[in-house]
Amino acid sequence: MKTDYYETLGVNKGATAAEIKKGYRKQAVKHHPDKNPGDKSAEEKFKKAAEAYEVLSDDNKKARYDQYGHAAFENGGAGAGGFGGFGGGGMNMEDIFSQFGDIFGSGFGGSRGSSQTARVKGSNMRIRVKITLEDIANGVEKKVKIRRKVKAEGVTFKTCSTCNGQGQVMRVTNTILGRMQTAATCPTCHGAGQSIDNRPKGSDSSGMVQKEEMVSIKIPAGVSDGVQLKVTGKGNEAPGNNSISGDLLVLIEEVAHESLSREGMNLHYDLYVNLSEVALGVSKEIETVTGKVKIKIDAGTQSGKILRLRGKGLPSIERYGTGDLLVHINVWTPQNLSKEQKQFFEKNISDENFTPNPSKTDKSFFEKVKDMFS
Ligand SMILES: [Zn+2]
Repeated sequence: MKTDYYETLGVNKGATAAEIKKGYRKQAVKHHPDKNPGDKSAEEKFKKAAEAYEVLSDDNKKARYDQYGHAAFENGGAGAGGFGGFGGGGMNMEDIFSQFGDIFGSGFGGSRGSSQTARVKGSNMRIRVKITLEDIANGVEKKVKIRRKVKAEGVTFKTCSTCNGQGQVMRVTNTILGRMQTAATCPTCHGAGQSIDNRPKGSDSSGMVQKEEMVSIKIPAGVSDGVQLKVTGKGNEAPGNNSISGDLLVLIEEVAHESLSREGMNLHYDLYVNLSEVALGVSKEIETVTGKVKIKIDAGTQSGKILRLRGKGLPSIERYGTGDLLVHINVWTPQNLSKEQKQFFEKNISDENFTPNPSKTDKSFFEKVKDMFS
């Protein structure tokens, strides 16, 4: 069993963003590798706190965690395919320091604890991708052209002489924990552990160039506006032989549909029928996200009735089912009448068949809508 994220940070379920940040800071300071050299269990706790904070500090992930718990990020769930954060084995120390470095305060930031070869990560890139409801229904693979920083062809790097390839230099500083030896980013190579050896023409001072690239983005079915997907390693590259690329963060933008509106997994469709059609019964073709379907409207159907087409909505991103399409019947009252039509209605105005007679089980439109979502 994984420990509850709120518990990990020592905060209550209803904690504010500031309380969550404070809770994380407390845990991170307590289990910081600089303070617990060689202590594997402290390192584990430090990583767990970072994992909890990554989720709880992100509105989107927090909402999913609050609803589904750890299942929201597990393999086979929405976590598969690099989506949602930690598909596999949690976070590594570089990730934690590069993502949350600012939270530790100055003099405590870039330290990676135990010394190792520097691995600099390139910066993340962000793009927006517009998605239609049809694409959301089926999932889609989008090809997007991006411009990212890559190492220029022919560039070579050599070990930085200032830090001996460590990417950091040791420094004694005063921190909130008292006097301690911390590692600071090497001022010569800025953490890369390497400096440029051969710089090809046309590249910048770090040997990087801008390159246009097509990136294929797999968008899972059921995404919604504002969801952020991550394409690992498709952000900017960083200089150096051991560097790793940043990530490409893809923000989903939902394109409004012409006739369907979305409410979670359900879709709504306003169908207008004329007086004669509902009086006699009619069959209508309506648009769904998976193609057109025919629906039958019985003679005598009242305006405001909602027909539920099961499974014609959108799939859940957590893959626990599919929503419905709710067809709202709106009867159109004619606004212009010919002489004959006028006579027809005048003749029937007091007719028994034209007299409203709602049965007790017939609910009003709003009651019906209320029932549907309760
Ligand atoms: Zn250096």
